[in-house]
Amino acid sequence: MIDFTIPAELAVERDRVRQFVIDKIVPFERDPRLTSHGPTDELRQELVELARAEKLLTVQAPEALGGRGLTHIEQAVIYEAAGWSTLGPVAMNCAAPDEGNMFLLSKIANPDQVEHHLAPAVAGHRRTVFAMTEPDGAGSDPGQLATAATFDGENFTINGRKWLITGANGAKTWIIMAKVAPNPYLPEGPTLFLTDGDQPGIVIERTMNTMDRNYVGGHGVVRFDDLVLPKSALLGETGQALRYAQLRLAPARLTHCMRWLGAAERSQSIAVDYAKTRTAFGKTIGEHQGVSFMLADNEIALHQCRLTIWHACWLMDNGDKARHESSVAKAFVSEELFKVADRCVQVLGGIGISDETVVEMIFRDMRAFRLYDGPTEVHKYAIGRKVLRGS
Ligand SMILES: Cc1cc2nc3c(=O)[nH]c(=O)nc-3n(C[C@H](O)[C@H](O)[C@H](O)COP(=O)(O)OP(=O)(O)OC[C@H]3O[C@@H](n4cnc5c(N)ncnc54)[C@H](O)[C@@H]3O)c2cc1C
Repeated sequence: MIDFTIPAELAVERDRVRQFVIDKIVPFERDPRLTSHGPTDELRQELVELARAEKLLTVQAPEALGGRGLTHIEQAVIYEAAGWSTLGPVAMNCAAPDEGNMFLLSKIANPDQVEHHLAPAVAGHRRTVFAMTEPDGAGSDPGQLATAATFDGENFTINGRKWLITGANGAKTWIIMAKVAPNPYLPEGPTLFLTDGDQPGIVIERTMNTMDRNYVGGHGVVRFDDLVLPKSALLGETGQALRYAQLRLAPARLTHCMRWLGAAERSQSIAVDYAKTRTAFGKTIGEHQGVSFMLADNEIALHQCRLTIWHACWLMDNGDKARHESSVAKAFVSEELFKVADRCVQVLGGIGISDETVVEMIFRDMRAFRLYDGPTEVHKYAIGRKVLRGS
């Protein structure tokens, strides 16, 4: 049976989240602590406490850790509402990269790691990073991983350089991908490590200047300089990092889609308001077909994106990995929502590129969405190969 009904209880919660974001979070969009390198930790903590007070913090987490263990479909509905402001997911502790990292940890962390890293992250007391991308190694192709880990039977020593590492500045928990060199004790290959951030071997060279500003701490260039970690820092098994990354990526790319859908809707609502009131050539601009068609195209895109997200979520809720469908969704939604934001800028005329409205920030922030968790071309490359295989 195909059923698109949103259960009444979920609809109530969705509306409550949207109202929370509008009333309590949107006012912070003009807070100076929302810097060119993203919200500061101080701002994040203030927002987190607001969500905590409303019992809206980390609602997606497993019930055993104090969350509500939302299904993927439930997440789609709630995250879309949270995404009305780019600060909404930050407040509710369901923003990237923490949301995906918490999901991964909930799947593969051992009990000690859950206690030390995951539980405080769920409680909003710890930020986390996922360090994979490298200037000369892993990127679109994680198989090019260059950061190396040698193992002497007791400790790993990690050396390498990463960049675009979101939230590096100030994160207390680090998930690091490095390639374990051949050794007599353990299998070699791409491996995940889990450690505290305040280690002498983790050097944050700088925070990069980027177009976007919705991620706490911005994006860092990081060096691992003889970072020594005990065997207990292994996250899962050696040689399994790419498999674990896939485990994280399918849901994580969908949650990006969900949050950005909410932001695109916000842009559309601002453009619609403008089109209803601004006049040109004797009528409101919305009465000009050129403008109403842009708004109609937006409405069509928002609807298509929502359905695409829901379908992949439905598959995952029914036990399917949905790797193909989440790739389709990521490629489609990231491209379409960016077009929505672009049309909203156009409808707003000159103020579209100014910070008179939040559309300009959403437009810039959304541009990056087409790159992370797989650039569009990489998803199309995978989709194309599947099409050609015929399976
Ligand atoms: C805002 C933001 C946040 C990020 N946060 C993190 C983070 O927290 N941790 C982390 O590890 N990384 C992070 N990244 C990095 C992100 O995962 C990479 O940017 C992404 O994987 C692409 O790698 P790359 O930048 O090295 O691009 P490259 O690998 O250099 O690729 C460049 C371009 O080549 C093209 N291309 C590549 N492969 C193919 C193909 N098969 N077919 C056709 N065209 C292709 C694509 O157009 C691609 O955009 C972040 C990136 C951004 C933009």
